[in-house]
Amino acid sequence: MINTILVTGGAGFLGSHLCERLLNEGNNVICVDNFSTGSKDNILHLYGDPRFEIIRHDINLPLYVEVDQIYNLACPASPVHYQLDPVQTIKTNVHGSINLLGLAKRTKARILQASTSEVYGDPEVHPQPESYCGMVNPIGKRSCYDEGKRCAESLFFDYHRQYQMDIRVARIFNTYGPRMHPDDGRVVSNFIMQALQDKEITIYGDGHQTRSFCYVDDLVDGLMRLMNTENVVGPVNLGNDGEFSMQELAEKVIRLTGSSSRLSYHPLPMDDPRQRRPDLRQAKEKLGWNPSVALEDGLVLTINYFSKLALDNVEVNTFDFMMSESS
Ligand code: NAD
Ligand code: UDP
Ligand code: UDP
Repeated sequence: MINTILVTGGAGFLGSHLCERLLNEGNNVICVDNFSTGSKDNILHLYGDPRFEIIRHDINLPLYVEVDQIYNLACPASPVHYQLDPVQTIKTNVHGSINLLGLAKRTKARILQASTSEVYGDPEVHPQPESYCGMVNPIGKRSCYDEGKRCAESLFFDYHRQYQMDIRVARIFNTYGPRMHPDDGRVVSNFIMQALQDKEITIYGDGHQTRSFCYVDDLVDGLMRLMNTENVVGPVNLGNDGEFSMQELAEKVIRLTGSSSRLSYHPLPMDDPRQRRPDLRQAKEKLGWNPSVALEDGLVLTINYFSKLALDNVEVNTFDFMMSESS
């Protein structure tokens, strides 16, 4: 069945891959984006497709379109970006979610929220199952994002209970791959760009903090499975359950790029979680989903993408402007 599907944040890293997959499967796709962190370059290759429409729009404003499904991905994801305008980040998560839930209510569309592992904060339970309620600092510099996303989850579940709306909530763990913005400040893009340019690799803290990294194709597959599986509302963790320290990641990137970069150590940003790994039992059991791309394989694909950009001497974005305030 051909659906008309709205993807908010469709010009971003994840959104652009999702739009591409949805079009490949024969759907009509409406991409809504305010281009704050996303880019037309990410979707340029989709422009000629008559089933693809783009609307420049901020989801904090009401939106009237007729759709069957909504993927709400609009929100800056990188700490450097979401902390640049924290009030806009909260508004996007709260006002933006209300508008899209209102749209879904009127059109009776199924709506999926791109939530995040950040709802677990700096977790005391490891790995993190969906039942863990998290440890989030409500007044810290990450809270515009963490609490914004938590409030969005509340809104989704309240609309679901109050109006019997058809919702899905995915808790996405760190995802990487081609079309990450080279200057968005996230660790995978930073380390790869720094290694390709033989510049210092900036490790925050002692590098022992851990993350689990999911390749973008696996993640998009998980989102679509969640959207199209009946009777699973979520929240469902989506990510890869391999766990690596930032030190290990830096060493892998140096080896895979053949770089001569050295490691440099910098203060840890405020409230930076010490460890993170998804408990994937629900995704495996309820969605039959299992990530298949190993970190090294995904890194090679990502390095290939970034090699072209590194030649242009793009500077990466590091946390220096914040570290000076919080350290
Ligand atoms: P991204 O910054 O590349 O994409 C976000 C997109 O949303 C951009 O195109 C941006 O311009 C757009 N946007 C932001 N605010 C908007 C607004 N008010 N109105 C309209 N468009 C707006 O980030 P991403 O990595 O592609 O993340 C996509 C979604 O997935 C986000 O909601 C993010 O919180 C979530 N997520 C991502 C990760 C990850 O590791 N990539 C992890 C957890 C959750
Ligand atoms: N909304 C929208 N598009 C629609 C329907 C609603 O953007 O097609 C917005 C509108 O701004 C509204 C919000 O969604 O205020 C929440 O809608 P809801 O029906 O929950 O509440 P109400 O209309 O009573 O404010
Ligand atoms: N990080 C780092 N160097 C960088 C960028 C990030 O050591 O240049 C660390 C950061 O402190 C965090 C981890 O890498 O511990 C993941 O950071 P990212 O911003 O990618 O995502 P998040 O903190 O939201 O998981």
